[in-house]
Order: sequence, then C-alpha cells, then structure tokens
Amino acid sequence: MKIKRLKLSGFKSFVDPAELRIEPGLTGIVGPNGCGKSNLLEAIRWVMGESSAKSMRGGGMEDVIFAGTATRPARSFAEVTILTERPASEVIGPIGAANDGDVEVVRRIERGAGSAYRVNGRDVRAKDVSLLFADAATGAHSPALVSQGKISAVIAAKPTERRMMLEEAAGIAGLHVRRKDAEQKLRATETNLARLDELLADMA
Ligand code: ATP
Repeated sequence: MKIKRLKLSGFKSFVDPAELRIEPGLTGIVGPNGCGKSNLLEAIRWVMGESSAKSMRGGGMEDVIFAGTATRPARSFAEVTILTERPASEVIGPIGAANDGDVEVVRRIERGAGSAYRVNGRDVRAKDVSLLFADAATGAHSPALVSQGKISAVIAAKPTERRMMLEEAAGIAGLHVRRKDAEQKLRATETNLARLDELLADMA
C-alpha cells in the first residue's frame, strides 16, 4: 500500500486545511523544533485507527483537535484524509473488494461526538479501517511508522511483542481479529444449540 496524499484540517497544530502530496521515492519533512513534523506522522497513525490518546501524546482523543492559540480560537473538529494506492494483490475483504486501486480513508472527530470513519465516501466502523490496513501489512502500529523513541522500544521489547511486530509486517495481524470474531460466533452458536437441545428435551 502506498500513501499518495495526506489532508489535515484542525488536526493538532494544522488548524488550516493542509494537503501534502507524497511523491514516489524518499520523502523528508524538515522544519524547526515544534513546527509539527511529528504531528504529521501522528495524523497518519490516527487516520489508520489509532485508539490510544496516550500514543497521540494527549490525555484524551479530543486533544488532537486544534486547541487554539492567543490569536486563533480552538476548532470544534479535526479531520484527516489519507489517499492510498493498493495493488490488486492486496485487495481482500469486504471493503477492499469494492475498492481496488485508490482508497480514500477519512477520520473525523468532533468535540463531544467521538470519531467517525469513511472509506471511499462510505461510512464504516473503526474496526473495518483497522482491518483494511492490517490486510495491507500496515496500520497505526506498523513498524514502518517509526516515531521518536521507537527504536529503543523495539530493542527493549519482549519476544511476544516482537512477534506481534513481525506478524503485522507479514500482513497476518488482521487474521487474528477475524479468528477472534469467528470464535465468538462459534461460542454463540454452541450456546444456541445447547438451548435447542434443552427445549427439545422438554418437548419430548
Ligand atoms: P521536534 O522537532 O521538537 O520533535 P516537531 O516538529 O516534531 O518537533 P511536533 O511535536 O509535531 O513538532 O509539534 C508540536 C507542536 O504542535 C507544538 O507547538 C504544540 O503546541 C502543537 N500542538 C500539539 N497539539 C496541539 C493542539 N491540539 N492544538 C494546537 N497545537 C497543538
């Protein structure tokens, strides 16, 4: 999966709508301390479904909304859009099947209303977005997104944590989620069957 474009509005220090085109090859972001370089990486993680406010360097998820300055009022919402190109080989699952080629993912958060996601203009759940990126061997926790302090965290990681990183890189993280869903459905069906047996025994 290749990221082609990133759009931000009201996200952290990016109060005005901003759009970045990411061309093929190596992209570097340069600027003075505190200008918002890390905020850009966080915007990518956030639109991919990051659910931990702490890892977004905030106390709550609404902290990603522009908080205002001495000269500008706070905003009531933040929105990040990512445009990605998916090779046909990566296209699996209900969302992917409908959208081979370019996939546009939008996440928006409003004060007091939480987050909402859209994929190619269609409302979807956070889980659908996480699966979409997990199937493409990326996502909010992808080892490809290296934030400050991450290198030492990888070195200090426990073997189970390292295994999770490798599984994400191999694109099988989404399979664990689907396995959990299938196991839950299986348990619910087993409960229904047991109940049915009881009813049949009562009727006999
Ligand atoms: P460094 O080079 O020091 O790591 P950086 O370029 O990566 O800095 P960031 O950490 O991305 O900079 O940006 C920090 C800036 O973002 C700070 O000025 C901070 O005030 C601002 N900022 C973070 N969250 C918000 C918010 N919700 N509203 C307004 N500004 C915010």
